[in-house]
Amino acid sequence: MTLRRLATPLTDLRGVGAIVGGHLEKIGLVTVHDLLHYFPRRYDDFSQLKPINQLRPGLVSVRARVDLIKVRSSFKRKRMVLTEAIVSDETGSLKLTWFNTPWVIDQLQEGQEYYFLGDLRYVAHTFGISQPSYEAVDSMKLAGNIVPIYSETADVSSRLVRSLIEQVLESCELLEDTLPPYVRADHSLVSFATAVRQLHVPKVMTEIDVAKRRMAFGELFFRMSAGLAIKAELQTEPAQQIPFDESLAKQFVAKLPFSLTPGQKQAAWKIFHDLDLDHPMNRLLEGDVGSGKTVVAAFAALMAIRAGYQVAIMVPTDILARQHRVTLQELLEPWQIRTELLVSKLPAKNKADVRSRLQSGEIDLVIGTQALLTSTTEFANIGLVIVDEQHRFGVAQRLSLKDKAGRLPHVLTMTATPIPRSLALIIYGDLDISILKDMPAGRLPIKTKVVFDDDRTTVYGAVDTMIAQGHQAYFVCPAIDETDSGGVKAAKKEFENLQSTVFKHRRIGLVHGKLKPDEKASVMQNFIDGELDILVATTVIEVGVHVDRANVMVIEQAERFGLASLHQLRGRVGRGSEQAFCWLFSSRKDEAALARVRAIEKTNDGFRLAQIDLESRGPGQRIGTKQSGLSDLQFAKLDDTELIAEVREAAQAFLTDKNIVQYPLTTQEINRLKIITSLD
Ligand code: ADP
Ligand code: MG
Repeated sequence: MTLRRLATPLTDLRGVGAIVGGHLEKIGLVTVHDLLHYFPRRYDDFSQLKPINQLRPGLVSVRARVDLIKVRSSFKRKRMVLTEAIVSDETGSLKLTWFNTPWVIDQLQEGQEYYFLGDLRYVAHTFGISQPSYEAVDSMKLAGNIVPIYSETADVSSRLVRSLIEQVLESCELLEDTLPPYVRADHSLVSFATAVRQLHVPKVMTEIDVAKRRMAFGELFFRMSAGLAIKAELQTEPAQQIPFDESLAKQFVAKLPFSLTPGQKQAAWKIFHDLDLDHPMNRLLEGDVGSGKTVVAAFAALMAIRAGYQVAIMVPTDILARQHRVTLQELLEPWQIRTELLVSKLPAKNKADVRSRLQSGEIDLVIGTQALLTSTTEFANIGLVIVDEQHRFGVAQRLSLKDKAGRLPHVLTMTATPIPRSLALIIYGDLDISILKDMPAGRLPIKTKVVFDDDRTTVYGAVDTMIAQGHQAYFVCPAIDETDSGGVKAAKKEFENLQSTVFKHRRIGLVHGKLKPDEKASVMQNFIDGELDILVATTVIEVGVHVDRANVMVIEQAERFGLASLHQLRGRVGRGSEQAFCWLFSSRKDEAALARVRAIEKTNDGFRLAQIDLESRGPGQRIGTKQSGLSDLQFAKLDDTELIAEVREAAQAFLTDKNIVQYPLTTQEINRLKIITSLD
């Protein structure tokens, strides 16, 4: 076998011409390097073969000869094609069945021997296996009877990938290890090259776990190191010190119409502590929808403004900016704060005016969208930036707000996405975190119920009664498939359906992702103003939007959403003082999905739900992972708190290592991730 360089194009391999090369390229496989990084999705373990007469129910693998194989259609269910085979070894025989996969018959020949793997069960008086995997005996020359199964496309079969991997496996030794050798030694990790080899060609199943641990460790190590490195750099930057003014704090608290929750007090205290340091705060305030983050923000803003600095509050949309302005003006009314909006809808002249007054220091508090506030706006003396309901405030944006003396503003980021702590350590390694765990007293929990198609009349009746009493309702539709961006089709259909039948007599609006921002905002505004009874929507309904009378939510095909997003959606209702209801239409077909949706019936605790979500779905599927760049985590399990803690310690130790310059590969990789982390 020749040792191929990692940059070698796959078209150099045996069996790869222009056509196959094109198919491979479509899934991102161009070079030997790419191929080696294309890891199996799962493994078929044929290493524990047993004679047929020794098999017990459960997962089994056998080596057996096909005596007979035929295809027929099912008696009971038409359109179901059954492929059945009788296989045997010296000790006995076994029945195998495949559903709707007629091509099996082309791949298994009578009289030939194969390996079979599957769940052995006693059905209809015989032992048999449904849908077993199979491998030709002669294709099993790679290793210890463990067959890696790769993701397949119409043109690229797992078998093809395996045959190519076989040709390039030796090149594994060219893969460099970015983890320092001592880190590997301290944490008993195999080298990257070994891990890659073991993932493709494991000799025993335990090798796969060893390799996966190495990969997960690496993924987490670089991500966390990047976060920690950003954090450490911020500590060395100068910032305006904002001293804690105790009498001001007492005044603020005394003038509130309610008393702060313990969580709010604690978060505020932490923020004041941070502001009083001479390097920039970078704190995340995490609190479920309705936990009262805005008051904390107002409190911090007041402290900074009274110390002589300007404060900017950044939100994702104009509507949210307007709502915040009203709320903040109310909260800060006694202190005569000069407040302005900077949103895209303002006439150019007004925008220019706001900008010039920000520059001259005639405005204390500005509320606007992030783009407007970081691109061309200059501040006289910005001391604090508050970012609400957005994923991240990047390093670049922060730098654009440096003052003339080169000082960075303090930054407080607020999010309603509840993130379990283990996950927060990965995503937000550069931030200090405060969590509002408790809800303000007296809040009525939203009444949530999972319902089915046969409940429609009842649910619609209840919705209509509530509308008659002056409440407003959201109807949310999920995306049908990938081509239907954001469920536009479903939402349109639902809108037409509701408008022409059950809710003919009600005023209904429609928002979805294909609307222009202007159109979307105007429908939203109509709903906020109470000019619509029902808003049919895709998931674009904004986080944080406050509609007092919106106390009804109906979600279609609830099982298509993650728990976290269902909870986020539900948080749009029940923001006033009245009882709110949420109905989740589900299907009884998928039991696992239904059980998951049922979890949301039982609890209003977003953190609890996020944890369940994390445990029941893979990292890539989690809502919000795209934004936080978690999709590049292939091996790391986000709920493996033990490994996460171990890696974090390792990352922390590495960053303070005096000999860090000896590991250029490691630092390069950290820097690469630092850029990714700070971009979004
Ligand atoms: P979110 O955290 O979702 O941004 P808000 O800041 O919008 O939540 O607060 C939701 C509602 O709760 C607001 O009407 C606010 O006035 C009210 N609120 C906030 N803190 C308290 C408190 N400690 N006690 C009672 N009501 C509160
Ligand atoms: Mg909010």
